[in-house]
Amino acid sequence: MVRVTAQGGTDVTTARVENSWQVKAACRGPQAVVFFPPPHPERKDERAEREQLAKGICASCGVRKPCLDYALELREPHGIWGGLNELERKAVLSRRSGPRAR
Ligand code: SF4
Repeated sequence: MVRVTAQGGTDVTTARVENSWQVKAACRGPQAVVFFPPPHPERKDERAEREQLAKGICASCGVRKPCLDYALELREPHGIWGGLNELERKAVLSRRSGPRAR
């Protein structure tokens, strides 16, 4: 997912994005709205439908792996990244960390 934020009124963020995998993201543009929850409460079925739309876009994206790696590394708490939602990314991280010491 591409998320460009203005930081201090400079073009640093934009320049960084233009030099990264994010320029090849299939979710750039108006369809990006389905990758994050709306500002209003979302019913379970609405969320499922929105996430399916987003995951369908991810399925054909050429930068899915770097996108997912990025989200996992940053522990992105929200949205669809690399075809996975928050809970699915937590499960990946949990599997990678192995069994916990008791
Ligand atoms: S994998 Fe999905 S979220 Fe990531 S850049 Fe591609 S379309 Fe966007």
